Amino acid sequence: MDKDKELSKLKNLILKFNKNFPGKNLVFSDGNKDAKIMIVGEAPGRTEDKLQKPFVGRAGKLLDNLLENISLNRSKVYITNVVNYRPDKNRKPTTEEINEFKKLLFQHIEIIKPKCILLLGATAASAVLNHISPLSEVRGKWKNIKINNYYFDILTTFHPAYLFRYKEKKKIMLKDFRKIMKYL
Ligand code: URA
Repeated sequence: MDKDKELSKLKNLILKFNKNFPGKNLVFSDGNKDAKIMIVGEAPGRTEDKLQKPFVGRAGKLLDNLLENISLNRSKVYITNVVNYRPDKNRKPTTEEINEFKKLLFQHIEIIKPKCILLLGATAASAVLNHISPLSEVRGKWKNIKINNYYFDILTTFHPAYLFRYKEKKKIMLKDFRKIMKYL
């Protein structure tokens, strides 16, 4: 089966999970399905739910800026989230939601087969690396992890929204993004 067909099959499957998020839209992905790098965030926010695209609100602007710093943009990356629906009242996804959606995320990763994966923040790290905080233990470190049938090189960094409160962390985050540039 080709990638487009597999992606549309997965999208249809995830649409069935809508019943747990009444009134919310599916936010599946953005970017290039053949990209070498796949970026995984936490869950959509209000703007993402409205526009049905990941990282198009305030945190998305920061992500675009970080990508620009390493001469990348959305045509060169593939972006998704652990949870594909906006949790009510902007709360963090629950452990149950993470565990449910991580199976779908793993299928998503297996379809895209990126060269490397960039995890943004603690929710993505917990879903993919099974890492429970502190994020500092895994941030900035490459890991080679088996997801379903394949091994992937995976780097973790902060979630861009973290920079709203801790602007000074941008330097470290840029350092992590440069690791991606070097790797590619
Ligand atoms: N934060 C995320 O984790 N994902 C989005 O798509 C937007 C904000």
